[in-house]
Amino acid sequence: MITATTDIQYLKGVGEKRAVVLKKRGIDTIGALLRYYPRAYLDWTNITPISECSFFENSCIRAKIISPVETKNTRRGMTIFKVLAEDASSQIEITLFNQKFLAEKLRLGREYLFYGRVTGNFYIKQMSSPLVNEASFAGVEPIYPASHDLSSKTISRLMKNALSSLKIPETLSEQIRQRNNLCDIDFALWNIHFPKTTEALEIAKKRLVFEELFVLQAGLTFLKKNSRGKTACVMEKNFLNEFKALLPFELTNAQIRVAEECLADMKTGRPMNRLIQGDVGSGKTAVCAALCFNAANNGYQSALMAPTEILAEQHYNTMLNFTKSTGIRCGLLTGATTKKQKTIIKNALKNGDIDVIIGTHALLSDDVEFNNLGLVITDEQHRFGVAQRGKLSSKGENPHTLVMSATPIPRTLGLILYGDLDISVIDEYPKGRQKIETYLVDSSYKARIYNYIKKFLNQGRQGYIVCPLVEENETLDITSATEYYEALKGNEFKGYSLGLLHGKMPSKDKDKVMREFANGNIQLLISTTVIEVGIDVPNAVIMVIENAERFGLSQLHQLRGRIGRGEYKSDCILISDNSSDDTKKRLEVIKSTADGFKIADADLELRGPGDFLGSRQHGLPDMKIADLFADRKILNLAGREVEYLLKNDPHLKREENLALRKEIAALYKNLNKN
Ligand code: ADP
Ligand code: MG
Repeated sequence: MITATTDIQYLKGVGEKRAVVLKKRGIDTIGALLRYYPRAYLDWTNITPISECSFFENSCIRAKIISPVETKNTRRGMTIFKVLAEDASSQIEITLFNQKFLAEKLRLGREYLFYGRVTGNFYIKQMSSPLVNEASFAGVEPIYPASHDLSSKTISRLMKNALSSLKIPETLSEQIRQRNNLCDIDFALWNIHFPKTTEALEIAKKRLVFEELFVLQAGLTFLKKNSRGKTACVMEKNFLNEFKALLPFELTNAQIRVAEECLADMKTGRPMNRLIQGDVGSGKTAVCAALCFNAANNGYQSALMAPTEILAEQHYNTMLNFTKSTGIRCGLLTGATTKKQKTIIKNALKNGDIDVIIGTHALLSDDVEFNNLGLVITDEQHRFGVAQRGKLSSKGENPHTLVMSATPIPRTLGLILYGDLDISVIDEYPKGRQKIETYLVDSSYKARIYNYIKKFLNQGRQGYIVCPLVEENETLDITSATEYYEALKGNEFKGYSLGLLHGKMPSKDKDKVMREFANGNIQLLISTTVIEVGIDVPNAVIMVIENAERFGLSQLHQLRGRIGRGEYKSDCILISDNSSDDTKKRLEVIKSTADGFKIADADLELRGPGDFLGSRQHGLPDMKIADLFADRKILNLAGREVEYLLKNDPHLKREENLALRKEIAALYKNLNKN
């Protein structure tokens, strides 16, 4: 009997030779063939009168041959066939190159369907090398990714054989299909390959996209549950209330919820592996301090790694502040730590005399050893590779790990991008945050803007001017920021203390400038985007962003998050001379909302996936039909369904979920291969 797992060689029409060709493309089984979807469709039913065909666009016409085929040989050995055809509206000249077989088939006085790009001039339209079909053909034809040894037509023929030769097991239970308005697998596969109508194709596609995203998410959730092993770091006691009493402010509900989610993880005996997502300024540091405090009181050491010295110092000071009245012992270890001090700290860590160590990459050094490391936290996780996180974790015995990120990613998308991480979201700001006013102006306002900045500086506040990276040309980037800095220093801002910060500076110098700014010694900082990460200077209240159109929305949002952090009202001024509708629309989003998730959504929609997926090696299996971005509504539906499913049938033991379990098992294999 033929099933989905039958070797492709045994399908009618496939011999040993063709099987090799198919297998080269990853089509090993009949099931795999059925999931080899067309890359496009040719709709032979959508016929346009010749007179209405647009130039340089593809059209399908039905036309009668009204001249004998004219043959011409070129000097280069090519044969060109020309023939005139007409419909009720107009005439068209059809040209075929070297297609002798096709040219000889065309009969004078007979009607055919032609599909191709329309060119020509005012007097006569032309179509070169069109696809040709009998006039009686009415249907949507699948176009498969083809190659010289395997044509689209051949695949199409094999597909028909496959579809007629077996009954495909249903992977989505009736309830799931009903709840989400999805067709069954049989209809879906027939119509994705041979759609009866474009509506049928849409219905089929929706179902298959849903299925792909559903199986993927269900698989990831399984992986998460089963691949984590055990940890000896069991932190049974909960000290959150004691921690709250140490704070000068009240934690927000979101901070408490997220802290509790982490604490619950850490007492199970399985290592926590969690991502905290919280918009800039949502107060991630306090949550991570709560967790370190809790670990220390349970007898475990914690390590907190930040991407820059200045951030590490900032976290260290915060931690000292919160815990000064307790017995918690904190340490700081960065590249700037003196040799002597390093030795002392390393010994203390090894002997268990430090409870919480905060640092930079310096923590990764081989001679940094722990007594009993129970919790590893990395701040601004996108700045570290997985390997670096792993290295820090390996200094303990399967410690709990937490990563923190300020990059808002729509929830379900995060679930997929971050694969095996659990995700907590801090979706609330601390009370009493001042709203940041955002303005959008063109550069004719510059003089006024400079005066506006000075007004703030004179009141003792600080500010930022941000210049963009110029066309990925890093040399230009430096000159632009440097020149700008020199110009302002010598002219408009003579007598003020200015600082310059850009990515090409050695990190020591960068840290020095940031420190001067944090101390208040620098009043106005001219910078490229390097200030994006984490720094907290509540006295900075104004930010001007030059050439704002060159930044992504999420990036603008991150930048703007550097101000509005204290008691003072803050202003953000976006300068752009680009008045295209697209730019206006994007910058209007930034003006109108401070919600990072909304902005991320808009960014995805307006700029496309490149920026989110581009730099990220997520190691997911290739999608066959779904598009994480275009299909994110279905992604959400599928995500909800996965939650529901696993709550009711956590081991997928029920009859109606067995086929799904098989699919997931197959996916497991793929995931493990990656
Ligand atoms: P981020 O999430 O961007 O890392 P931080 O942890 O740096 O944000 O917090 C931003 C600022 O908000 C800090 O100055 C911090 O002390 C303050 N903060 C954090 N939580 C609260 C709270 N619940 N109430 C008031 N202020 C808070
Ligand atoms: Mg932070």
